[in-house]
Amino acid sequence: MSDLLRVQGLQKSFGTLQVLRDISFAVPAGTVTAVIGPSGSGKTTVLRSLNALDRPDAGVIGIGDVTVDFAGPIDRATLARFRAQTAMVFQAHNLFPHRTVLQNIVEGPIVVQKRPREEAVDDARRLLEQVGLAEKADQYPYQLSGGQQQRVGIARALALEPELMLFDEPTSALDPELVGDVLRVIKDLAATGRTMVLVTHEIRFAQQVADQVLFVDGGVVAESGPPSRVLVEPERARTRQFLSRIL
Ligand code: ADP
Repeated sequence: MSDLLRVQGLQKSFGTLQVLRDISFAVPAGTVTAVIGPSGSGKTTVLRSLNALDRPDAGVIGIGDVTVDFAGPIDRATLARFRAQTAMVFQAHNLFPHRTVLQNIVEGPIVVQKRPREEAVDDARRLLEQVGLAEKADQYPYQLSGGQQQRVGIARALALEPELMLFDEPTSALDPELVGDVLRVIKDLAATGRTMVLVTHEIRFAQQVADQVLFVDGGVVAESGPPSRVLVEPERARTRQFLSRIL
């Protein structure tokens, strides 16, 4: 299987704090990668680098046929093509409060991607069905539960038709009883062969859904491999220590 995502030598500092020292990994097409690690280890920064929300100081990221070397100058057209390869689902959904669910989903495709409205609306309804919210199309975000809002956030990201879906702790802001529905949607996406990278604290979920787990610590990928190894029989003491604290 070819790698959809290739990350080589990412570095990133905020002021004097070096968060990413040397991050390298690859994600084969059609697979799910879970990024785990201690709080503050740089997991979110890795994810945000993948669509240049955070600009790495150095390193190369290739997604599909777009490769960007962050050490050098990047022209705007390349950066736009790079960003269009991914869509991000944030911890909190960031929906527009004064727009309906449907309007929230079609905004990106119509305004940014200039797709015909009718086509965007048809796609949005199909995506709402996929996340189990077909009947909520005309409601406003405040009329939905946190879990439903987050599922709309997933539909909105899917509507951009990205090659790679990025999830930043998509359930961490939810009440425990709402987590399951969101995880189920992500699991369904995995079953359809979507390529995804997710930062998560849900270790059991990672075990079920991920093909690859990256343990990020000290600014590097300290350990990586299938969940059956990294989460069950980790080689490194740091990984064992981290898992024993959160499991
Ligand atoms: P994690 O997702 O593993 O909890 P983050 O990637 O969010 O870690 O953050 C890693 C470190 O970088 C933390 O110390 C955080 O405070 C710092 N950091 C993240 N974003 C910024 C920023 N925009 N400005 C300054 N420091 C930041």
